[in-house]
Amino acid sequence: MILVVGGAGYIGSHIVKELIKSTKVVIFDNLSTGHGWAVDNNAIFIQGDLGKEEDLEKVFSTYSIDAVMHFAANSLVEESVINPWKYYENNVAATLTLLKIMMKYGVKNFIFSSTAAIYGIPKEDFLTEQSLTNPINPYGRSKLIIEQILEDFSQAYGMRYVVLRYFNAAGAHESSLIGESHDPETHLIPIILQHLLGKREKVLVFGSDYNTRDGTCIRDYIHVTDLAHAHILSLNALLTGKKQTATYNLGNGTGYSVKEVIEACEAVTGRQATIEYVERRMGDPSQLIASSEKINRELGWKAKIKLPEIIESAWSWHKKMVGLEKENSLEHADWFVIKNRDRYL
Ligand code: UDP
Repeated sequence: MILVVGGAGYIGSHIVKELIKSTKVVIFDNLSTGHGWAVDNNAIFIQGDLGKEEDLEKVFSTYSIDAVMHFAANSLVEESVINPWKYYENNVAATLTLLKIMMKYGVKNFIFSSTAAIYGIPKEDFLTEQSLTNPINPYGRSKLIIEQILEDFSQAYGMRYVVLRYFNAAGAHESSLIGESHDPETHLIPIILQHLLGKREKVLVFGSDYNTRDGTCIRDYIHVTDLAHAHILSLNALLTGKKQTATYNLGNGTGYSVKEVIEACEAVTGRQATIEYVERRMGDPSQLIASSEKINRELGWKAKIKLPEIIESAWSWHKKMVGLEKENSLEHADWFVIKNRDRYL
């Protein structure tokens, strides 16, 4: 049985959809940023707080857990600059509590969601796992601290782990049942699509004076379903003993500027965006592009879904969300809780 911490969140819920095809899954989530409607009906769901030992004890004492996948984190760069305490509390202290309970129950396999933000300002065009790690914001630092803790725990306690450093996760599940939905939304692709659906007046482009081909930031966008496949391969590598510890970058290996992403959204939707250039956002490096050669070589993973398809899947999801909002006067989360109350412990 696999425990997915943060399985009601954007990335976690997509991984659950893949995992559930071959194994039993327990989702643990406090629904602070995740959604009740994103919880897969075939998984066991436990609502609880990662930082509370008693909530975790309930899970580990009830179920026989083979491995833990950990997605529960705060992940907004600018927010982390403004409120670093929240990031060290939720991303570092709470994860440490999870690791402590795992050790107590002898659960040694761990998959950790890390981020390209640990690299800071890159010195090379393509970041490899050997590139210098020098995060420039508390979010990146909070993730790097856990990576370092995992190294120590593997040495001292025989912990087995795979660290997956995501570049920019985007897109939605092929079913359009789940997709990216944050409140407030801060991510580029959902913001552009919300604007193109008439839910926002314009798209603000944060910074036009970066040292890039068009002055806007460059990122490497990766579809959540590609991410999900990398998690399954990593889990199998741990459970079969093929890997004791590993760290991998997950990206497409192609960088798109903010302007290019807006143009790609216009092409997919056939709609024109209104753009306003504003100040740089705090904590943003100019360019982050992955080399994912290592996971390709060692586990045979390669991203398959390119930016236009990523946007198409997100567009289907966003159009559906608008329809749902019209149909349901209740918030999605409340609607789900009412219908599924007996699944809550
Ligand atoms: N961005 C932007 N306008 C927005 C949201 C994002 O210009 O409304 C830019 C942001 O500054 C960054 C890129 O788009 O350069 C991707 O940002 P996002 O928040 O999606 O992901 P991040 O790279 O922060 O993980």
